[in-house]
Amino acid sequence: KGGIALVNAGKLTTCTHLQFQPFQFNQGAKVVGFDVDVIDLVAKRLGVTQDIIDIDFAPIKSGAVLSSGRCDLAAAGMTITDERRKNIEFSVPYFDATQALLARKGSGLTSLGDVKAKNLKIGAQASTTGLEYVKRKGFDPIEFADSPKELLGLQTGQADVIVQDLPVVATWLKKPDVRAKYEVVAVLDTGERYGIGMKKGNTALSKVVNEVIEGAKADGTYDTIYKKWFGT
Ligand code: GLN
Repeated sequence: KGGIALVNAGKLTTCTHLQFQPFQFNQGAKVVGFDVDVIDLVAKRLGVTQDIIDIDFAPIKSGAVLSSGRCDLAAAGMTITDERRKNIEFSVPYFDATQALLARKGSGLTSLGDVKAKNLKIGAQASTTGLEYVKRKGFDPIEFADSPKELLGLQTGQADVIVQDLPVVATWLKKPDVRAKYEVVAVLDTGERYGIGMKKGNTALSKVVNEVIEGAKADGTYDTIYKKWFGT
């Protein structure tokens, strides 16, 4: 059976949420990133072209865009959770992440406890595991629609500290203007793993996606992609 039978519209349609550098973001008009490279391997394996759609993260993590057939895949640096698993068929994990707490240099903060003790405003990205985590810890976070807005919220003083996936924060800190003023003051070891999402029950497609991920890990392609986006 040809790969084309596994996709909805004769092409691999992938839902994502920009900007989430280095996993998916615009380089000019082009959407590039770690996740894009992974799903391009899937498209290649299926012998179809790739179409990436940028939408909110909420209908991605709920599985709505997968169950409706709008997208064949969701690739959005999305953490696999038990809650999301109820409505999404997840691939095997392809990336490990934790949460990082980013604050102004010299803040003296070293933990979420310090943030609470000083009654500081914490920011998080809407619909994400980082937001859920700090809510569970008793915070009432300021929600930002995407990661650039979240960083801007820190830079403009709307939030005193922000919580975000560590690889995204690490990528921000590569920018000299960010690195000059901000630092990671705590890593919250949430033990997250990203998975590619598919329609719940679509085991035919998930089998292929898993083979692609496992094959890439085995033959060095995964390492090449990792080095491309994270350096050595
Ligand atoms: N990994 C986080 C989550 O799954 C953030 C994903 C994102 O913002 N694209 O909630």
